[in-house]
Amino acid sequence: MKSVKPMKKIALEEHFITAPFEEYETNIEEGRKAAASQDINLRLPEFDQLRLEAMDKAGIEISVLSMTSPGLQAEKDAAIAGQKAVEANDFLAGVIARHPKRFAGFAHLALQEPEAAIKELKRCVKEHNFKGAMINGHTNGVYLDDECYKGFWEAVASLDVPIYLHPADAFEMPQSYHDYPMLRGAMWGWGVETATHALRLILSGLFDRLPTVKVILEHMGEALPFMLWRLDSRFQLSEPTRPLQKLPSQYLKENFIVTTSGACDNAPLQCCLTAMGEDNVLFSTDYPFESAQIAADFIDSAPLSEELRAKICYQNAERILKL
Ligand code: MN
Repeated sequence: MKSVKPMKKIALEEHFITAPFEEYETNIEEGRKAAASQDINLRLPEFDQLRLEAMDKAGIEISVLSMTSPGLQAEKDAAIAGQKAVEANDFLAGVIARHPKRFAGFAHLALQEPEAAIKELKRCVKEHNFKGAMINGHTNGVYLDDECYKGFWEAVASLDVPIYLHPADAFEMPQSYHDYPMLRGAMWGWGVETATHALRLILSGLFDRLPTVKVILEHMGEALPFMLWRLDSRFQLSEPTRPLQKLPSQYLKENFIVTTSGACDNAPLQCCLTAMGEDNVLFSTDYPFESAQIAADFIDSAPLSEELRAKICYQNAERILKL
């Protein structure tokens, strides 16, 4: 492969863990090869050497850090979840304070109690200067279009920060995944689950009520950019559950941002750029679950103009995250 000079990058799906959160990491190890697991477990709770070295090699100037999935969203006790969210966010603020030029943060929220989540998001943005929040899919089966999150989305709009909608397991495993455990998680199931969650947000009318809200999706948009025409076409033939002002594709273009995290392939990149627009595609790596180097080499050598590469690598992130 030809060697390319790495472009400056900002990455925004970069995970960590702290000891009190390891109990929530239940299924995540399943199906992962032992050697890969060892390396991930070494890197997840680490901030000072391995992580900075990987960032330097990949040309990543700033990593926006987030608690690894599912975190507190798997906690059944709402009070414990609320308390641990505060601890997790204060911990992350301490890490950022040690490396203020290299790290920024997304809040980790206990959505079991929407009022507490609102308060914590406000605290994180105003006191810790966090850039938004990462939410790991449904919380014990409740999705973000639920009526109980009306106030939460109003807070998101008034704070003017994006929500990164990160994959999670389906609440119940579909029959179609039986016999093939690899279908449940990262290879397939998470993408379907997260794309469906995004469509629920659109179909709920959230973006008619709050047109400035921005939601970030990983994996080049969980295949939704590929589906724009079909979504509109079949939506128009469906009995509406709620009146919408626009077609689904318009909300996807106006209210969603996609990252290249976990998808290092030029064909979907070109689809995203065409379908979503050049201002809505951002570089990310999913460290330490994916190689930051492979992600960086991919974007550094993708057939893009240097202007467009700069937008994807850091300029769009600077604008959206106000960095
Ligand atoms: Mn991830």
